[in-house]
Amino acid sequence: MLRTLFIIGALAIIALIAKKMMTPKPRVEQKPSPKPLKDMVRCETCGLHLPIDESIKKDGLYFCSIDHRDRYEDAQ
Ligand SMILES: [Zn+2]
Repeated sequence: MLRTLFIIGALAIIALIAKKMMTPKPRVEQKPSPKPLKDMVRCETCGLHLPIDESIKKDGLYFCSIDHRDRYEDAQ
């Protein structure tokens, strides 16, 4: 009788472990990581704010496009 209980218990534990391993992690546990704030720069020509890695850099100034960089240079 004790042996039967032991086997049932062992099986139950195995089943629990297996279930835990099979269940995919709930998404709720994963905190939605906020997007890292990119450095924003301002276009010298039109004043548009854009991420630094999308900007055109020239002499420490930033532009939203090559066109605006050229326009700024023309205005100088
Ligand atoms: Zn611009």
